[in-house]
Amino acid sequence: MSKVIQEAIRLDINLSQLKRNFNVISGLLKPGVKFMAVVKGNAYGHGSIPIAKALEEFGCHSLGVVRITEAIELREAGIKIPIVMLAPIMPSQALEAVKYDLTSMLDNEAIAEELNKNAKKHNKMIKVHIKINTGLNRFGIEPIKASDFIKSIRKNYDNLVVEGIYTHFRDPEFNKPFTDSQIEIFNGVLEGLEKEGNRPPLAHAAATGGILMYEEAQYDMIRCGILLYGEEYLKGRRVLPEGVLPLTSLVGRVIKINEVQAGQAIGYGDKSIATRKSRIAVVAGGYGDGVSRGWKHLLINGQKVSIINYAMDCVEVDITDVIEEVRVYDEAVFIGHQGDECITWEDVCYGLNSEVDEQLQRITNRVQRNYYFEK
Ligand SMILES: *Cc1c(COP(=O)(O)O)cnc(C)c1O
Repeated sequence: MSKVIQEAIRLDINLSQLKRNFNVISGLLKPGVKFMAVVKGNAYGHGSIPIAKALEEFGCHSLGVVRITEAIELREAGIKIPIVMLAPIMPSQALEAVKYDLTSMLDNEAIAEELNKNAKKHNKMIKVHIKINTGLNRFGIEPIKASDFIKSIRKNYDNLVVEGIYTHFRDPEFNKPFTDSQIEIFNGVLEGLEKEGNRPPLAHAAATGGILMYEEAQYDMIRCGILLYGEEYLKGRRVLPEGVLPLTSLVGRVIKINEVQAGQAIGYGDKSIATRKSRIAVVAGGYGDGVSRGWKHLLINGQKVSIINYAMDCVEVDITDVIEEVRVYDEAVFIGHQGDECITWEDVCYGLNSEVDEQLQRITNRVQRNYYFEK
């Protein structure tokens, strides 16, 4: 391994914890139910290639992405397990879908036509998963059309394999009656297809909310996103199964310590004027790294301190009241544990009107990702 330069802000990612999360969630599944790990959005900010490689090694059945570029990146990194694109591809992308052996979501014949044409040309069989709209009203064909659609795909497109059929819940955590109605509609579709001997082998519906709350919706496979990363919250209360925990810590470093007099400004503008003689630490990590202006605290020497100003590359914090002496290059924890204190992704979302996955997505490329297994 080449020695990597240490950066002043890094995201530590615990792959041992990823493995535990994968195993605990697998333990919630009925026998034979397959595990699709959703790694879209750069694996929810965790870094799609290392996460996908680890999951492949743990025995994960398949990966879910949204953009074809995400799928190609994984194939080029050597990922061999099935990769399912969970949103519609465009006709111009059909050739690449075939070339890289990607599984496409399908809800219209024009895409089927394009995929089939390219598959034929390359003498390949290409898998598709048919999406059924049961109430999210985003993608998918109407339930009543499912049978004819699948028949038509099987009849007219020799190089396509209808491997899957799926739907997606609109609000599983907070709206049980509606989710139950979605399950009922999907069950109706599956029963109809079974009677005709037309049911695709892999039916799936449950993402995180479904996995946690609707055992009956596991079908043949689950699509697990945020829960796999240990970051699912329900109205501020953790609902994670025991043993499922977050993977990440976001750790900056103190890069300068300044002393200012009462009345002097700290950082840009006049937002922060010292009201007393203060010690100020400048910490690497700003909105150019994904540290939003709404984040209120970080941890230094195991103590929670207030962020008093923000910039693209750093934040300023008041360390006047930190008991132990703060030194330049000390670690400053934006997210994670230090001593007895802890700041979670959910804490930084509080009052921001944001979601954990949104904040995680904002961690930019220049933040060094540090993947490790516990010793
Ligand atoms: C993002 C996504 C998932 C994963 O959702 P989580 O709630 O993060 O588990 C599953 N299915 C589809 C279609 C998605 O777009």
